[in-house]
Parts: sequence; C-alpha cells; structure tokens
Amino acid sequence: MNVAARQMGQTAARLRFENIRHGYDHRDVISDVTLEAHPGEVLCLLGPSGSGKSTLLRIAAGLEMPRGGRLLIDGATVAGAGAFLPPEKRGIGLMFQDFALFPHMTVIANVAFGLAHLPKLKQVEAAREALFRVGLAGYEGKYPHMLSGGEQQRVALARALAPRPAVLMMDEPFSGLDARLKDQVRADTLAILRESGATVIIVTHDPEEAMGMADRIALLKDGALVQQGTPHDLFVHPETLFAASFFSEIN
Ligand code: ADP
Ligand code: MG
Repeated sequence: MNVAARQMGQTAARLRFENIRHGYDHRDVISDVTLEAHPGEVLCLLGPSGSGKSTLLRIAAGLEMPRGGRLLIDGATVAGAGAFLPPEKRGIGLMFQDFALFPHMTVIANVAFGLAHLPKLKQVEAAREALFRVGLAGYEGKYPHMLSGGEQQRVALARALAPRPAVLMMDEPFSGLDARLKDQVRADTLAILRESGATVIIVTHDPEEAMGMADRIALLKDGALVQQGTPHDLFVHPETLFAASFFSEIN
C-alpha cells in the first residue's frame, strides 16, 4: 500500500530516520540519527531534556524539514533528498505534550478537528467512535475545563487516533499528569494503543516509563543515538556509562 492510500489506512507503517541531521540557526541539535520504528511496535525515544526527542517527532510529522538525511515511510522517501510530503499526507498522528485541546470547543469538536477532509456526518461518526475507544462515550458535549487531567489526556488521544494514523507519535504524554494517576493512565493508554494497531512512538525523559511501555527503546543524548534495544537489553547490557547511569535511577 502506498503512503497516500494509507492516509486513512488501518495498518501500521514502518518509519525510518536515515542519517538525519538537523539544527536551529547555527547550532546542530540532531547529528546523523538512523533509527527505525517497526510496524505495530511501541518504540520509546528516551533521553534527557534537550537531547532532540521532540525535534525528531517534528521532523517525522513534517513540521520541520531535516537539514540532512532522509525520512522514509514503508520505504518511500517523504522528506529529504529533494522530497517533501506534506504532514497531512503522511498518515502520521502527533499528540502534543500539553494536549493542545481547544478550550472553546466541545470534546467532540476537538476530536473531529483533524477530520476536515471527511464529510460532516463521517467526521461525527469517526469522532464518536474514537471517544468510545478511549472510554469517553457520553463526553461529546463537554468542554475541556470540565474534565480531569486524565480525561483531557484521553480526549487528546482520541483526536490523534480518530484519523486512524499508521504511525502515532506522543510527546511526553504523561508528564502533565498527577503522579498518583500515572501508572493507571499509562496502562490504559498502552491497551488503547495496542488495540489501535498503529506503529507507536512515545517520547519520554523517564526511564521507568520507557521500561514499562516500550517494545524497544532508542536512547538519545545530545542529538545522537546512544543505544537501541529492548528494555531488557538496555537495562541489563548498557553499552555506555551514560546508559548505565540513566537506568540506575530505576529501582
Ligand atoms: P527534547 O525534546 O529532547 O527536550 P528538543 O528536540 O526540544 O529536545 O531540543 C533539542 C535542542 O534543540 C535543545 O537544545 C533545544 O534548546 C533546541 N531547540 C529546540 N527547538 C528549538 C527552536 N525552535 N529554536 C532553537 N532551538 C531549539
Ligand atoms: Mg521535548
């Protein structure tokens, strides 16, 4: 299936960063990152603040054009090497760190926001279905301020899932949540993500979160890939002092 056909597709895609370089002004912040998210897996991009995680997501989503290297979806170049496929054609969903819900819009209008390409009736149908999938059936007419933090997170998740992206990316999806809620919300979110069948990329600075959610972890430092592997690989066989000390915080 080609990328355009998958715009509304159900199947998971393979996303490849190939020798990606990027910077802002005169400063390089991503240096030669080659990394693949495999179809249907949950990949965590893990690293301290400033390591370039959000920049990689923005490049994948088409919000930044990389200065070097290529981005491929199922083997087709969508950015770099003279190519640029616009964000809405990539079949990629992005959930922002602060949820970015529109306060003046109802829950269902928020969820339907990314569905403008569909007829009105289909938008409502898909938005309702996405709300059902995240356990928020009946919340359609509420406004974001009437919801708890965990519920707002699920509205943002529903909005990202509603177009049925082949790749779903989440930037620090739990950082705004109360510590007492986090474990439950993580478990619930993981179940919803698994059911969606999408390839999932979760950005986090929290090694415990990555250990608990990822099929594979890519560890970043200063814009470079330090190590990638299963949570077990990184925890038990760290290849650098950095990796070892990063995971030693977990008990
Ligand atoms: P992370 O998400 O891992 O915290 P980012 O990708 O946000 O890292 O940032 C990587 C580096 O790029 C940081 O040093 C950050 O200050 C810098 N940076 C990010 N966005 C911009 C921008 N719009 N303009 C200039 N510098 C930026
Ligand atoms: Mg970030």
